[in-house]
Amino acid sequence: MTYEEAPACDRHETKVLMQLRTMHSDSSRPEVVVGLFECPECGHERRLPIRTSDAA
Ligand SMILES: [Zn+2]
Repeated sequence: MTYEEAPACDRHETKVLMQLRTMHSDSSRPEVVVGLFECPECGHERRLPIRTSDAA
C-alpha cells in the first residue's frame, strides 16, 4: 500500500511534510486504516484515517 498525500506539519512556517510511520487497521471499520505520521523536524505525531481504495 502506498500513501501519496502526506499531511504537512502545522508547527512550521514552511511546509514540512510528515512521514508515515505505522498504520493501524480498525476491525470495526475495515475500510479505514489509521496512519501514524511523524514530522521529521520536530517529531510531532499525528493520526489520520486513510481510506483504502476498496471501501464498501
Ligand atoms: Zn513539525
